[in-house]
Amino acid sequence: MQASRPGKLGALAVVAMLFMASVPRPVAASQPEADPVRCNSVNVVVVARAMQDVESACAGAEKAMRFLGSLGLDVSGEVSIQVLPELPKSMWQSAAGYYIPSERRIVILTYSAFREFETWFEVTIDAALYRSLIAHEVAHLFADDNFWMDAPTLHAHEYIAYVTQLVTMPAELRERVLEAMPGQAYERDAHMNTMVYMLNPMRFGVGVYRHYLERRDGADYIRAVLRGEVLHE
Ligand SMILES: [Zn+2]
Repeated sequence: MQASRPGKLGALAVVAMLFMASVPRPVAASQPEADPVRCNSVNVVVVARAMQDVESACAGAEKAMRFLGSLGLDVSGEVSIQVLPELPKSMWQSAAGYYIPSERRIVILTYSAFREFETWFEVTIDAALYRSLIAHEVAHLFADDNFWMDAPTLHAHEYIAYVTQLVTMPAELRERVLEAMPGQAYERDAHMNTMVYMLNPMRFGVGVYRHYLERRDGADYIRAVLRGEVLHE
């Protein structure tokens, strides 16, 4: 797999949003499935062969749930996270994970497989970045639970997922990401749309984080996204 390029993280969402109905049930090649492990502090069950991946999945999910819960979202629903050494062949090669809303299940690469991308957000992948990837997918799932409308836009979904991912990163990692991807916050809602997202998902992600950060009412803005008052077209 190549190093970071536009479209990788986009695959996370695009696949989830557009193709989730046709995604085959993933099965780890020629290996029996590991036993499910329930996280200590959150309502999350993880299936992963490496205990390190279980711990990362629990930690990433908990960070996302704490943040979204602090904004008033309902984060009580159960989540299932399946960690696999490879994703189904039908997935984009650049995808690192996706989620299946009807099953409340997130499917994500193992840390060792994810590291083969080498960089993400234009910084070297490490364990904290991996946890943030899980936080991103968990945010999608709880955004689904909390949207007031049946069909939110892709960029509304991604706004919440990326803000959650960047907010929950350790400050040191977040600073490196922002330094590696310089730019301005989006000034207007119209600048944050699905086309801009598709052109460069990670740049969109960093841009919406800056937008969130520069607002005094960032939390209110996320609630407005969920109510369909902004980013709805
Ligand atoms: Zn996403």
